[in-house]
Amino acid sequence: MFEALPPYPDHFALEEEILAWWEAEGVFDRLRERNSGGPHFSFMDGPITANNPMGAHHCWGRTLKDVFQRYKALQGHDLRYQNGFDCQGLWVEVGVERELGLNSKREIEEYGIAEFAERCKERVAKYAEVITDQCRRLGMWMDWDNDYYTFSDTNIEYIWRFLKECHERGWLYKGHRSVEWCPRCGTSLSQHELINSYAELTHPSLYVRFPLKGREGEALVVWTTTPWTLPANVAAAVKPDAEYGLADGGWWAAELHPDATFTKRVRGEELVGLEYKGPFDGLPAQQGVVHRVIPWDEVSLAEGTGIVHIAPGCGAEDFELSRVHDLPVLTPINEAGRFYKEYGEFEGRSTEDVEGPVVVELERRGLLVEAGSIVHRYPICWRCSTPLVFRIADDWMIRADEIRQPMLDANATVQWTPDFYSKRMDDWLRNMGDWNISRRRYFGLPLPFYECESCGNLTVIGSLDELRERATGGLEQLQELHRPWIDEVPIRCDCGAEVRRVTEVGDAWLDAGIVPFSTLGWQNPEWKEHGYATGAAAGLTGADLPDHAYWEKWYPAHWVSEMREQIRLWFYSQCFMSVTLTGKSPYLSVLTYEKLLDENGREMHRSWGNAIDAAEALENIGADVIRFMFCEQVPSQNLKFGYGPAAEIRRRLLTYWNSVKFFVDYANVSGYRPGAEAPGELQPLDRWLLERTEQLVADITDQYERYWTPGIVRAFDSFVDDLSNWYIRRSRRRFWNGDAVALWTLWSALVRSAQVVSPVMPFLADFLWRRLRADDAPESVFLAAWPDVRALDEPLLEEVAEVRRVVELGRQARGDAGLKLRQPLRRLVVQGAGPAQRHVEEIAEELRVKEVEFAPVEAMEIRVKPNLPVLGPKLGKELGRVRAALEAGEFEQLEGGGVRVDGHELGADEVLVERRAREGWALAEADGLTVAMTTELDDELRVEGRVYELIHQVNTMRKDAGLELTDRIQLTLPQSDSDLLEHADWIKEEVLATELATDSVDEPQIAKVE
Ligand SMILES: [Zn+2]
Ligand SMILES: [Zn+2]
Repeated sequence: MFEALPPYPDHFALEEEILAWWEAEGVFDRLRERNSGGPHFSFMDGPITANNPMGAHHCWGRTLKDVFQRYKALQGHDLRYQNGFDCQGLWVEVGVERELGLNSKREIEEYGIAEFAERCKERVAKYAEVITDQCRRLGMWMDWDNDYYTFSDTNIEYIWRFLKECHERGWLYKGHRSVEWCPRCGTSLSQHELINSYAELTHPSLYVRFPLKGREGEALVVWTTTPWTLPANVAAAVKPDAEYGLADGGWWAAELHPDATFTKRVRGEELVGLEYKGPFDGLPAQQGVVHRVIPWDEVSLAEGTGIVHIAPGCGAEDFELSRVHDLPVLTPINEAGRFYKEYGEFEGRSTEDVEGPVVVELERRGLLVEAGSIVHRYPICWRCSTPLVFRIADDWMIRADEIRQPMLDANATVQWTPDFYSKRMDDWLRNMGDWNISRRRYFGLPLPFYECESCGNLTVIGSLDELRERATGGLEQLQELHRPWIDEVPIRCDCGAEVRRVTEVGDAWLDAGIVPFSTLGWQNPEWKEHGYATGAAAGLTGADLPDHAYWEKWYPAHWVSEMREQIRLWFYSQCFMSVTLTGKSPYLSVLTYEKLLDENGREMHRSWGNAIDAAEALENIGADVIRFMFCEQVPSQNLKFGYGPAAEIRRRLLTYWNSVKFFVDYANVSGYRPGAEAPGELQPLDRWLLERTEQLVADITDQYERYWTPGIVRAFDSFVDDLSNWYIRRSRRRFWNGDAVALWTLWSALVRSAQVVSPVMPFLADFLWRRLRADDAPESVFLAAWPDVRALDEPLLEEVAEVRRVVELGRQARGDAGLKLRQPLRRLVVQGAGPAQRHVEEIAEELRVKEVEFAPVEAMEIRVKPNLPVLGPKLGKELGRVRAALEAGEFEQLEGGGVRVDGHELGADEVLVERRAREGWALAEADGLTVAMTTELDDELRVEGRVYELIHQVNTMRKDAGLELTDRIQLTLPQSDSDLLEHADWIKEEVLATELATDSVDEPQIAKVE
């Protein structure tokens, strides 16, 4: 007996059952053992940040990773299955700050950097565990006890080596420049952290007068949306070749004020060199500053006044201009975004807090022309959403110019899916600036930079051994390579001076970018067991540090997969570091995907109440359905995730479930057990289903090989449709009769399909496999070998596919004409069919028609009308004649969709062609096939229609009454149905009735025969 299936799958319960069973039976370990020593498939996991539980969006990438790892394993490949956790940098710091209620760097320092680091590690440990549980629940098979943690000393040392290499090549430098700065986090951000991090914000919009010196009554008018930068103003820029006009004592670009009456007009270059009174000359910081007009070709004439206020300490372009024109650079705010004391009354205030006082002061001094507000897109911190400001800072940078071309060359060797992302990567590489690697924070990669004040030399330490060698003290307290401990280890400079480390930590993308080296043991002479688990990672993982031979084998990765934004993040940092160290791309192929939105297409935000986290999704939707949804998605489009789409998938999966249940029920009725061979002669439909199954194997294998999950789902869906809506439907009677050949055929198809879909929905597939498998087959679908792909009987497949197309079109025609499928019709004409002509009986039966004819369809009427907006102007007066000729049908159709009429040749876009059925016909056409049916009913057809309705009704009653498939019934019909008795035998057979009679009842009645 096969274990019976309930009418609906309880996804949640069956997934829990399978998980427990996998665990108990060690299925994953057995799979790894079986594949050990097989051909290797190298997948490198991009680390997930262990800072929060997973969101639904994380499940997308995790699903794709697991699908292809499972597929490769089923193919017999040996895999590493190493999961990675990203565990230091701003993510974790901001998470811990929130947890502890700290809101500034000062508060962190008061709390204590060592304590803070411990809290960061605790947070990582906690969420690594949560994420692991969620991934397991999603069905992700990984080597969970041997994860890599990017904050391990080993990982850090490998980054140090990379940085030392950069230094030796002369790429490392300290940039003094204007950078985007988060005042809350107290650090600058790098180019790749800024993209997509914008918000619609309201800011003041001020027009301000700068009175010109020596030109009584004349002033420059500037426009600004950042009033806080005015106290740092040192210059005003004009466009030299633009025209400026004087109106009401103010100079403006003439182009921007076309309605003004100007009393004087000059070219911008004539204003250059003039001096003016700055808006806040009284501040100590402004003492000695000479404010003047400078030329700048980039001044925009699209908005503002055409005169730009320049504060080199508060803007990137302003800072560049200060270098060209030798302007003083006033830096008004400190790391926390608060004004320095040289700014008088503004001292200690934030940039936002000074907006009001600045306006009041300008107004008081008669410098304010107009004050309003503006809503614009403004950059915000990607971690804490604080609006960013510009500050001048000294940041550690890696020069990108020399590596750019080698990185482009390396990217040219990578196979991207979808392939146009390759160009996106190229674009990023072409435009990438130098890499800002320093962050003024606490719990991150300690930059191993030691600047000597005596000799000016910069020492970059490349390893822990080197640090130990050069340390002058502090080694005994160095518990791990993190602040504050590392800061207590000074080194000896070559000149003999003692030097302390710079205090900056590194960009988190260095942490993730190095993993193709640190986890695989690059240049490591000897394999160290648990050798990766060092520093902060000790005790969290058992990961080994392999030797160089291992690295040689597993590098580069055959495949990586992350979301598209990783182009400028992990794909980039990995590529940068790998090309630097080996000259090669760290991955051979990439699958990338877009963003997850809610089911209405909006971004998910916790504050909007539409976010679904992974825990919620796993509990309410189930892992298989989630996975199926992600796999079906075309990865280059945003995915609409939610309960609605999930219910739709659950409904679709039910068709497959029902097919298995159908098999199990009938196999059990007849006591059938499957064997290796067919238990008798196959019928044509059996041969077709077996071939169709082989086609599924071939199609789906091809889609897996291309990393194209939508193709996998499409192949499976279309197979299930053929299986359920053709094979099973067409073979029902055989199953009722317990036909062992039909049962064997169906069983073979079900087992195979469960096998090839198992990477997508591992729980359901293994659940069904365990019920269906032959006694000598492996216990888990994941321990069975992937089926071989063989040559297909294409003509047979095409033949049935065509029959199915004819039937589909017939159903469509019936639907369009409002004719129920249960109502038999007289005649069907099919045009354009080839091998389907051998299936007259099946087509007739499926479409409930008495006669089928393969012949040209003449039931079609073609009406052509002029496309007036196009033809009207073209034909003018002749339009009337053409229209009449078209109406009368006096035209000839041309190739390409046009017509010849009344001496004119009209193109396809000049006419509207309408094709429809003639009176008395239902018609449908597609892809060269046309199907037409007569719609007229006679008495015979009407009675038969009522018989089909009755059969349907009685079978529904049987189901509702809970009868078994084999139960016999007595059927009683109302007197009004007595004319149906001429079909008594037919009815009895279809509803398993032993007796059929009429009586004075209103509705048909059934009674079980005991
Ligand atoms: Zn921030
Ligand atoms: Zn020195």
